[in-house]
Amino acid sequence: MARPRTAPSGRTPQWVLDDALGQHRQALMGPGARRRRDRRSARRWAKVPRSRGRAWRATPAVGVVLVLMLWFTPGLVQDYAMPALRPYLPNASAPPRDLQAAREPLGTPPAVEDAGGYRFMGSPDPGQPVVAYDPCRPVRWVVRPDGAPPGGQQLVEEAVAEIAAATGLRFVAEGTTTEAPSAQRAPYQPERYGRQWAPVLITWSDATEVPDLAGNVVGLGGSTPRRGPGTPFIYVTGQVTLDAPGLTEVLDGPGGADQVRATIVHELAHVVGLAHVDDPAHLMHPGGGATVLSAGDRAGLARLGSGECVPRL
Ligand SMILES: [Zn+2]
Repeated sequence: MARPRTAPSGRTPQWVLDDALGQHRQALMGPGARRRRDRRSARRWAKVPRSRGRAWRATPAVGVVLVLMLWFTPGLVQDYAMPALRPYLPNASAPPRDLQAAREPLGTPPAVEDAGGYRFMGSPDPGQPVVAYDPCRPVRWVVRPDGAPPGGQQLVEEAVAEIAAATGLRFVAEGTTTEAPSAQRAPYQPERYGRQWAPVLITWSDATEVPDLAGNVVGLGGSTPRRGPGTPFIYVTGQVTLDAPGLTEVLDGPGGADQVRATIVHELAHVVGLAHVDDPAHLMHPGGGATVLSAGDRAGLARLGSGECVPRL
């Protein structure tokens, strides 16, 4: 049973410098009882593009303010612009303050008994062990449908509905996209998606496009944490990358639809912040087997729907 391990390079993740995209893999073991296993878990670290640094250096006044920001908010070296600075940063890689954010959470997680059985994805800040989406804003999502197996879209919609119900987070479908998956995906793409954080991107892909899907890996999932001055980290967008050829094969087998839906739910659970657990009774066990959310999975998801509202991001 493969377990998550750190990056082969042994490099220390630079949370405060880099974008983070947690990627977890699921794999097929063939026709056995266990259909999935993890080859490995890894995070990919995308360097902040140089252009962002140049934007900051372009105006001396902005540089001074940035230094002050860093002084008063240790750890913040992200490509995030304070609202007051934005007029000076036309290319800032963060959207304007979200005026659409509600004052109260848009939904309520179900009341479930919490007896453990779940883990959260790693946090950039040891003082903030749980990173989640802002429950006061919808989690927007788009699908690149190319290559989807028959019925794939319906399975995605069912999986999203399941995660929405289990977290209380409000998911809003924003249709289709042509955007390709990428470990270096920019979390803010105003040209494509308007002046808001890019929606969660769900794609049907293959190992040709995404080498991480090579072999028996059938899915990747994770989200990007961000924080501003004085705010906790929240996830602002994420990705689910599905191996279309592998899952098409699964779909043709017995119980195929349940297996594929479970795979998508598993990856979406990574997106909202759940990590793997060791007990195979849970859907978040990397070895597969379970096709429905366990009580432990549900307890973790309910906690992830109870995050902090951060309208300033
Ligand atoms: Zn996983």
